[in-house]
Parts: sequence; C-alpha cells; structure tokens
Amino acid sequence: MSRLRFDAVEAAFSKKPLEVRMDERPDKYFARNVFDRAKMKEYLSAESYDRMVRVMDKGDVPDATTIEDVADAMKRWAVSRGATHYTHWFSPLTGTTAEKHDAFIEPDGNGGVIETFSAKLLTQQEPDAASFPSGGIRSTFEARGYSAWDPTSPAFLIGHTLCIPTIFVAYTGEALDYKAPLLRSLRAVDSAAVKVCSLFNPDVTRVHSYLGWEQEYFLVDEDLYMARPDLILTGRTLMGHESAKSQQLDDHYFGAIPERVAAFMHDLEIEALALGIPAKTCHNETAPNQFEIAPIYEECNLAVDHNMILMSLMKNVARRHGFRVLLHEKPFKGINGSGKHCNWSLGTDTGIQLMAPGKGAEDHLRFITFVVNTLAAIYRHNGLLKASVMSAANTHRLGGAEAPPAIISIFLGSEISSVLDHIENSDNFNLKGKRELKLDIPQIPELLIDNTDRNRTSPFAFTGNRFEFRAVGSEANCASAMIALNSAVAQQLGMFKADVDALMEGGEEKEFAIVKTLRKYIKFSKPIRFDGNGYSDSWKKDALGRGLDCETSVPLIFDSYLSEETVRMFSGVKVLNESELKARNAIKWSTYTKKVQIEARVMGDLAINHIIPIATGYQTSLLDNIIKMETLLGKEEGDRLSKENIETVTAIARNVSDIRRLAELLIEKRKVANLIPDVREKAVAYHDEVAPVMEEIRNHIDELELMVDDQMWTLPKYRELLFF
Ligand code: ADP
Ligand code: MG
Repeated sequence: MSRLRFDAVEAAFSKKPLEVRMDERPDKYFARNVFDRAKMKEYLSAESYDRMVRVMDKGDVPDATTIEDVADAMKRWAVSRGATHYTHWFSPLTGTTAEKHDAFIEPDGNGGVIETFSAKLLTQQEPDAASFPSGGIRSTFEARGYSAWDPTSPAFLIGHTLCIPTIFVAYTGEALDYKAPLLRSLRAVDSAAVKVCSLFNPDVTRVHSYLGWEQEYFLVDEDLYMARPDLILTGRTLMGHESAKSQQLDDHYFGAIPERVAAFMHDLEIEALALGIPAKTCHNETAPNQFEIAPIYEECNLAVDHNMILMSLMKNVARRHGFRVLLHEKPFKGINGSGKHCNWSLGTDTGIQLMAPGKGAEDHLRFITFVVNTLAAIYRHNGLLKASVMSAANTHRLGGAEAPPAIISIFLGSEISSVLDHIENSDNFNLKGKRELKLDIPQIPELLIDNTDRNRTSPFAFTGNRFEFRAVGSEANCASAMIALNSAVAQQLGMFKADVDALMEGGEEKEFAIVKTLRKYIKFSKPIRFDGNGYSDSWKKDALGRGLDCETSVPLIFDSYLSEETVRMFSGVKVLNESELKARNAIKWSTYTKKVQIEARVMGDLAINHIIPIATGYQTSLLDNIIKMETLLGKEEGDRLSKENIETVTAIARNVSDIRRLAELLIEKRKVANLIPDVREKAVAYHDEVAPVMEEIRNHIDELELMVDDQMWTLPKYRELLFF
C-alpha cells in the first residue's frame, strides 16, 4: 500500500527519459540541452554575442542591453525546446542544489498570457532565504537572500525547466552558498598565478583552474533498498553483517559490467552528454556493486556545476532502471567506501599547462615553481584541506582500509622528488652563470612522469600533469575542496612572488631569485611530502612527529576553518571573511549533529521495532522446540540434545538485553547532548557520546543476524544488497 503511494509520487516527479535516435552520434547530441556558445551565436545579436564571449573568457561584466538580449534569447531557445518554466539553480550550504520553478507566463493585459523572461528575472531573484541554512548571517527577521546569475556557467534544460546557474548571497553580500566563494577563489588564484607567470611568460593574461572529478557510487536494487529504512533515511546501512563473499577476490574492479548496470550507464552517459557533461569513463570499482563515472576535465566552476547536475541526474536515471544510487561515502561497513577524486591543475589562456613539465629549461623552472608552491600551500593549510572534505559520512571512509587516512600528505614520485632534493641541496647556483643554472636543474622527460608509479594510498598525489585530491567524499560538493585549495595556492603564489620581487629589487638576477625562493619553500614544505604507504599505522606516528594535522574527530577538524592562519589566508585573498567562516562552521557543526541524530533515531527504531521482535520471535520458536523435546524425551535427554538451541536462546537473550540497555542509553545521551546550547560543543557531544553507542548496538545486531533464522530476518542482508 505505502509502496504504491510512493511510486505514484515518484512517477510524478521523475523526469522523462531523453530521446536520442539510434543513429545519432554523441557529437550530434552533445550539449543539446545547454544554452552554449553555438546557441548564443544563433539566438543573440552579433554585438551581444561578442560581449558574452568577453564576459565568459575575460571576466568582463555584462551590460544592461546584453543581459536583456541574453534573457530573451535564452527564453526563445528554451521555449523552442518545449520549456515552460525557469529556475535559478544554486548550491546552498545544505550541500545539495536548490531550484524554485516559475512559469514564463505573464498576463498579457487582455485576459490571456504571454511567455516572457526579462533581464531582471535572469540576473537576480529573491528565494525565501529563511528556508536555507545561513549560520546566523541573516537573522530571521531579515530573511532576504539573493540568487544572482553566473554568466560563466551556461544555462541548461532539465525536462521543461530552463535552469540558470546562480550564486546565492545575503543582502549584505555575504555568501550563503558554495558558488560565490568558489568564483572568488578562482579569481584569486587567477590573479596570483598570472603575476607568477609574468616571471616566465609575460603574455599570459589569465590562469584557469581545472577540475576533473571521478564520481564513485553504489547501485542497489530498488526493491531491496525499499526494505532498508536505514538506507532510505540515512543513505547508509546502520547494521548488517559482512557477507561471506565481499571484495576479497578483487574480482569486481574493471570487471565485466552487468547488463542491467550497463543499460543504466548508457542512459546516464547520453543524458550527461546532452547536458554538456563530457562523460568519458565508466567502470566497475573495487567493491561489489560499486561503479565510477568520470568526465574529461573542465574549467573548475563548470566542472563543479556539472558534478552537481550529474549527481541529481544519476538518481533519476537509476530509478528508471529499478536501481537506487548510493552516493554516501560509506554505505557498507567492511568494504570500500566511495570517494570523488578531484584532479586539479592550472593552465593559462596561452595554452600552457602549469602543472606539466614543459620542453625547455625555462618551462621546467616554471613547472617546478608551481609544484613547489602547491606543496607549500598544502603544507601550510593541511588541516584546512582536511576540514574542507570532512563530513559525518566521509569520516567513516577516510582511514578505512581502502581510503587515505585523515592526514593530508603529498605523493610526488621519485623523479620530482629528486629534482626538489637537488635544488634544495645544491647551493652553487649563485656561482654559476645563467646558462649553467638552467642546465643544472635536471630535466624530467614528460613520458617518464606519465608512467610514475602511482601511489594509490596518498590523499594528494601528483599524477603527471595535475594533482589528484583523493580525500574528497563521493557525496560532497567539490566546491568545498576547490575553494580551500585554490585560495591556499593563491595566497602562497602571492607570497612567492613577493619574495622573488624583493630579491630582484636587492639586485638578484631573476632566475637566481626564483631558485633561491624555491629552495626556501622546498625546505619549508618538506613535512608534507610522503611517498610511503599512507594506509600503514607507522605513517600515523610519523605524521604526528612531522606536525601534520592528525585530528580524527569531525567537529574538531572543523576548527581549522577558524584558526588564525585560515582566517588570515581567506580574508587576504578575499574569498571568505571571518563572519562568513564562522557562519559556515556553525552550519557544519549543526549538520554534523543532525546527521548523527537522525542515524541514532533510525538505529533506535530499528533496534526496538524490527530487530528485537524478530530475535525474540525466533527465540520463542527455539524455546518451544526445547520444551517439546523435554516432553518427548524427558528433561535430561531433551536438554542434552537441545544443547545448541539452549545456547542460542541464551545468546539471543544476552544480545537483546544489551540492545535494550544501549538503546535507552542512546536516548539518554541524546537528551543530554540536546541541552547543550553551543553548536560546536553539541557536535562534539554527538561525536564523543552518541556515535559510539550506535556502534555498540550495531555489533549486537550483527551478531543476532548470524543466529536468527534467515526467513525471519526482514532486512535484506549485505549479500543481497551487494550481489543483487
Ligand atoms: P585515474 O582513475 O587513473 O585517476 P581517470 O581517467 O579515471 O584516471 O580520471 C582522470 C581524471 O583526470 C579525468 O577526469 C581527466 O580528465 C582528469 N585530468 C586529466 N588531465 C588533467 C589536468 N591537466 N587537470 C585536471 N584534470 C585532469
Ligand atoms: Mg583517479
């Protein structure tokens, strides 16, 4: 009954599958649903088109006429594609995306309607900001928050709705979302990197940050999912004994993709391509029923939007195939969790990949300069980088057997390491002429780098022409990590340039000034370099000795956002001010609390209403059997033959009684925690007091799962969820 009703609601919301003809090739339907440059060219006047190109490529501000023209063009294009509504699409701090759909129709004054879309509606709207977390930036009586058009990310169509990417800010200008600070951080790294590039390539006028994400996820059969209230309400299994077979055979990674999954992937890929997401790779991941989709990298802001679009797309497409997609970082205990590796690099408007070794010695010095500055930035802000990827869910994944620990370090590979060591240790640069200096830095052949042995255990690895940030969680908005990374690198590049300038003002030649400054930062950032096994226990001790941030408690990890260093850095590069940072942390802490609270409630309900009745039901049937055996064979003989059953009855009784006691305790702990007024302290209490009790309850439930009659156990087990 309830299932039926659920389906009806879902059907009403689920979006119609995209229709692509059998003979259509990807180059034909790529970006079909995007108001991209080709459509702008077709629908805009020549002047407006040229202006928009400058807006997108050079960061110009669009003028009123252009905006008017764009609004009208967007509407005409969208309507020609059957759209009836539009929405400002934004990323509030809830971590998901928000949209409020409005129809294009307006009264025409004669009792009818016309479809219009004005510049005003395109540029700015006022969603009910009170419904989104603001961390106290906006007091409740001042509920104003604005969404404002981001002309650098193209509008797109989903179903009958034209979606316009926007930032979301308070009326005071403070950011209430991820996109506003992301754009600021991209501007910061752009301007700092251009200044550093001026030492090498004065013709560079813009530096872009690039992002290529790899989205991991699990698929679960929809009917099984529906029978797991914990999956429905928390996104992960709160209980479940390990399956006899899980991932020990390593037979899933890159294995043959099951037909039903392949059909899902095929659909997903087509829809992603039609939305301009350059989906390229789809494959099985390590764990059973775990998969990955990765597009070709793009400019960071666009890549972030594309990832947010893809995550909602996946959910819709999965339902059409009778699956549910799990984006939670650790849906199943004991097997791999899901991450979202973020491949990051910088590149210039003149086509230089700044994180790739170039051809000549000059290129090479530039490459080393950007690598070393990245090292220094990450070292200085390693606690912040970790905080930027941390969440109630990702904490279960980091430090598991499959993911990097909750310590940020960088893998460089032997080639780059030896170049850095060489620069660090040779102090004869001053004695040599310019020519020798150039020759004295060992060159790294491009090919060699591409083949560097990749250290899969590193949370932040150099992989040939980019860095790969692997600690990011599968469900996260990657903007959070990208804001921290780009801002930290922007700050560091600024410091580097200032140091080089000072040396040059003191009469030092440019190359010497650069190498001297590099040497300083190579020494400074040494503790962040680690090429060993990040999963090993010895690394945890080593890292502590190096002074790296080794905190594991989520609420305390968030403290890094408010450290003096962080506040100085973010305000220095004009990405987030102190009040924005405080507000964001308040949201982080309260989100953490709420997530654990929901899990604790679901755990309590399941334990008391599902598990205990099932376990006692089975216990009763055993007792019944024992008594009947006694009746038939006499007490002594009956009990002798019922020995195992009697033991099981006792074991069930013990577990049930422990579960009851712990469920009570869980409620007590919550009551105490809920009275704590301070958001941070409350989150700490949820972490220290509430979460551990849930783990204990789980252990008892998992034990019961092994004892109780399989027929009576109503929750689908791991072996079913993971192997269909
Ligand atoms: P792997 O799983 O071996 O890391 P994938 O092919 O799955 O490799 O993913 C690599 C990702 O890195 C892709 O999204 C790719 O487009 C991206 N990438 C490649 N070069 C760069 C670069 N210079 N900057 C940013 N991302 C890049
Ligand atoms: Mg990767």
